[in-house]
Parts: sequence; structure tokens; C-alpha cells
Amino acid sequence: MLGHMRGRKRSSEWEGAGELGLIEGIRGDFAGLGGGSGLALGIGDDCAILRPPRGMEVLVTTDMTLEGRHFRRDLHPAESVGHRCLARGLSDVAAMGARPTAAFLSLALPPEMLVERAGRMWVGRFFEGLRALAERVGVPLAGGDTAEAMGGLIMADIVLVGAAVVGRSLRRSGAKVGDGLYVTGALGGAAAELEGMLARAPDGAVAGGWAGRVRGWATAGVQARHPQMFPQPRLGVGTALLRRRLATACMDVSDGLSTDVAHLVRESGLGAEVMLGALPVHGMAARRSEWERLALDGGEDYELLFTAAAGVRVPGMIDGVPVTRIGTMVRRRAGSPPVTAVGADGSRRELPAGGWEHFSGGR
Ligand SMILES: [Mg+2]
Repeated sequence: MLGHMRGRKRSSEWEGAGELGLIEGIRGDFAGLGGGSGLALGIGDDCAILRPPRGMEVLVTTDMTLEGRHFRRDLHPAESVGHRCLARGLSDVAAMGARPTAAFLSLALPPEMLVERAGRMWVGRFFEGLRALAERVGVPLAGGDTAEAMGGLIMADIVLVGAAVVGRSLRRSGAKVGDGLYVTGALGGAAAELEGMLARAPDGAVAGGWAGRVRGWATAGVQARHPQMFPQPRLGVGTALLRRRLATACMDVSDGLSTDVAHLVRESGLGAEVMLGALPVHGMAARRSEWERLALDGGEDYELLFTAAAGVRVPGMIDGVPVTRIGTMVRRRAGSPPVTAVGADGSRRELPAGGWEHFSGGR
């Protein structure tokens, strides 16, 4: 556990990193974050203690962030890596309509990062990014662990615990025939920005180098212009969908819309029609000739994809985030594709799950 960072004695797990001085810094940085509802004991003991309020149940999600798979040290600023690490977990909590209670982080770092001054800088910047988002959404870092990474690559594993009213969490399986299919925000921005980053810094061009800070990265305005580096988990939308009983099913768009609609359709035992002309395409993707591929298959947008009953009026804006109807849930017919794309001219084709693994096969 990150335990004892604040306590009387240092936990054994952190002793190896004792020379860092970094841990002291993290302890101070995160000490100010109040316990979310349901966290009875955070950093400072062998275990954290969770005590959900009466009538609430506990939700847990875990996400690995691997260097070379989910980020590149020479492309993503360290603040972005910390932000994205937490954002991925928060997005899953949002997708269930829950509120985040606490985060737990296990971090494996190359040995030189544990001792070198420069190494401390990367880790310090990583925690700055993670902390800024944690503070904004009010989730405490309630524990964690660190270890030396074999192979020289960074690995961060985050566990998010959330809480929601018993039996009310939004699942992927609740959609019915005739339900409208909706998505929040805009699609394709994260993939478009990543392609731009890759074009500016092709693999190996800055080998061993680190991406610099983005000026003003912690502000909402700057983050909005960097959908790949600073995706925004839709916690306010998720809790509103649950509270207002708007959604019949919900999930987050992490792999790419085409892949994630296929997940929703499968879990609900239905088919879906997606209207291509209705897709809310992110400005960074819209100006590219491949906007349709970016919007359909580009991942990491971390928007919410949900269904609502045909008779329900879904607002065009929830918690300040645009909501767009992009299709309809239909009965799944034998021999027909699970997801059909309907063009603006009425043409129909199968929409294959094409969500993309940007660094698949390594760096
Ligand atoms: Mg998810």
C-alpha cells in the first residue's frame, strides 16, 4: 500500500524507493484530497477501509497503462500519462453511472527513474497530471504500491472504486428494441491528435527523449484542445443518466465506436443501426479526409455510449456535454450483421468492429 506515506512509519513496499524523496512529495501532494464518500480510511495503514453509505453498492474497475502500448514517453507528456491513467478508470465508473470513491495505483518504474534526478522529474510530472484530475473530480488516492520494472518500461495499474445506489448501476445489457442510441461529446478527436503526434515524431525520432510539457496543460481550455493527451471522463453525465433514469444501457467508448457498439449490442442481445450522417465528429478529425474512420474506429475518446427508451426525451446537453442521437437498437435477425451503418443517402452496409490498437505489436 501507499500506506504509511503519511503515517508514523514507512510501509515496507515503499522502502526500496526511500531514496527517492519522491514518496514524501506524493504524500504531501495527495494528503489534501479529502476522502470521497465511502472511504473510511485512506493512505496510512496496511489497508484502506471502504464503508459505502447505506443503500449504496461498491463498483470496482482496473486498468493497466503500459509504456509502448498505451503511451510513448517521447510522445505523451508525463502529465498526460498520469491524467490518462486515472481518466481511464474514472470513465469506467462514469459508464456505470457511479461516483468515484477512491483510487489505488500500482506503479512499476525502470530502476533509473527511482534514483536519477531526471527520473524523479518524470514521476513527479506523472503525479502532477494524476493529481490535477483527482482533485477536480474529488477522488482520493487511497493506496498503492511501487516496484522496479524489469525491461525498462513503465507500467501503471489503476484500480478505481465507485459507489452507486444498489441495483441501479447502468449496464451494457439493458437495451430494448426501438431504443435510441446516443453518444456524448465528439468522436475521433483522440485518434486524430495521436496521428498528428505520430506524424511529428515518428518512431525513434526522439528515442530516449521525453515529451515536454504542454503549456497550460492543467486548464480546462487547453485540455479540451488535446483529446488524446487529456480525455475527459463523463462522470457528471453518467450520474445524471442514472439519477434521471434516462438510460437503459450504457458503456464508455474506449476502443472505438464501431467496436463498442458491437459490445453493447452483444450484451443486450440485439442489433443496431448507426446513422453515419448523425455522428458528432470532433473538429480535429472532421478536417481530415479519413474523418469517418477516425470517428468510427479511433479509440480513447472516453465518451459515453448509451441507449434510451423510444418515448424518453433525452436532452441535447447533459452536465454541459452535448448528447447526440446516432442510431437505433433493432431486433437481431439471423444472417444480418449485428451493426448496420446507414449512410446519409440511405445506403446500408455492415459496420465491422474496427476499433484500433494504435501501438499494437509494440512501439
Ligand atoms: Mg469501459
